[in-house]
Amino acid sequence: MEFSRGKQARLAGARRELYPHSLQFYLEPPTENISLVEFESFAIDRLKLLKVVENLGVSYLRGSDTYKSKLESELRKLKFPYRALAEDDYEARRKDHISHFILRLAYCQSEDLRRWFLQQEMDLLRYRFNELTENLRQKFLEHVNLSFEAISEDLRNELSNELYTSTPGLSLPKVKEPMFYKVGLADAVDLFRARRVFIKDGFAYVPLKDIDSIVLSNYRTKLSKALALTARSLPSIQSDERLQPLLNHLSHSYVGPDYSVQKNTGKISLEQIDALSVKSFPLCMRQLHKALRDSHHLRHGGRMQYGLFLKGIGLTLEQALEFWKREFIRGKVDADKFDKGYAYSIRHSYGKEGKRTDYTPYSCMKIIMSNPPSQGDYHGCPFRHSDPELLKQRLQSYKIPPNGITQILELVKGMHYQLACQKYFELTHDVDDIGFSLNHPNQYFTESQKLLSGGREPKKEPSSSGSSQQKSNSQESMNSNSTPTSSNTTADADLEGLEAYFTED
Ligand code: SF4
Repeated sequence: MEFSRGKQARLAGARRELYPHSLQFYLEPPTENISLVEFESFAIDRLKLLKVVENLGVSYLRGSDTYKSKLESELRKLKFPYRALAEDDYEARRKDHISHFILRLAYCQSEDLRRWFLQQEMDLLRYRFNELTENLRQKFLEHVNLSFEAISEDLRNELSNELYTSTPGLSLPKVKEPMFYKVGLADAVDLFRARRVFIKDGFAYVPLKDIDSIVLSNYRTKLSKALALTARSLPSIQSDERLQPLLNHLSHSYVGPDYSVQKNTGKISLEQIDALSVKSFPLCMRQLHKALRDSHHLRHGGRMQYGLFLKGIGLTLEQALEFWKREFIRGKVDADKFDKGYAYSIRHSYGKEGKRTDYTPYSCMKIIMSNPPSQGDYHGCPFRHSDPELLKQRLQSYKIPPNGITQILELVKGMHYQLACQKYFELTHDVDDIGFSLNHPNQYFTESQKLLSGGREPKKEPSSSGSSQQKSNSQESMNSNSTPTSSNTTADADLEGLEAYFTED
């Protein structure tokens, strides 16, 4: 018993040594062996976490109570360190460490991926750092070699006027209260650029409340360099047959259902598709449907993206053959050519030819990150791949209100394509809050059908606050007893049965 206690204590000590802080700059890669199963599950959990960070960062003011409580609840749920206080959260710290490095491998592969990863990791670190107690903050700063010297009270009194005039948010009597740190100019570039700090003799005098921007700028530099270095070592990783598919999958990853199980198969008639494309298709699929109807043809990328989406919403193989044939023979393809060529690839996508792989519909990440459209293509994500001016015109033609278009274009500018799509959903369904995190075109369709069948309450009045940052909580605004209305014309009688079908608990 004694022995076992001693052993346990030693083990706990060794673990604590490995992760002395719940927060880190991820400077040392993990060296232990882990199973592929753990590798994947850690990576997926971190990806879920970063998606939440992205979503919250756009929906709420960073640092607001709602932002903090929602993020903490996600950290708890996914078993990452959620407060820097618990001493004995070795497993959570280990997961945090390993999962960061796995996603670093997956997200170093292109400029877009690196930028996205960097932004979410920075937001996560900012939140965690600000949650630290003063004591832990000091310890962490020392741990990452950012041990700045706190200035003496005498010096603070002597410089009080200068500190007051150069530091926004401090009144003269208050300037003597907070701790000020003497920081090398190179570490305080952001504060210096924003003229938010007092500078003397090559040092910035930074109040405790602004130390986080220094920590973040330091972290950003380190992580950017590390991502560039990791990208250079990619060829050796790409030769690992077990890892490469996993990493590729992660960087295009979508972490929800794959919409390959079609319990709804056969519930849609071909005649419903035109109306559905207006009411319930996301913009990418609405665009493909329109292009198909207009030109009676789609190139391979479009046929794959749209064909698999239609399969996911319930078209049977027979219906798909009929749908595509009907349209193609109205263009330049005759029936014989269709049967000999295009029909094969449709059967193939339903797993009836070749290797008999039952292909699943593409997720948003796959559409956004791979195979960008060229001239004459209509596939891809319009929020990612369309020229902003064209996107604006299309949104105008779909009667999206001007302030909605501005919000969408702002999100696109910030490269939040899925959030732009969520905003499009809210505006076309007349709801204040989409109430889910959009990751898949088929999820968009299913959620739209649920909503149109009365599962959720549309918003009552247009928002007049003008604040796009602070949204209402979707849970609070839902009322299952409400009468559904839709901004999209009248409900078609023949769609009612279908909408009801998609209503789930
Ligand atoms: Fe389609 Fe996803 Fe882009 Fe929306 S975000 S348009 S669902 S790819």
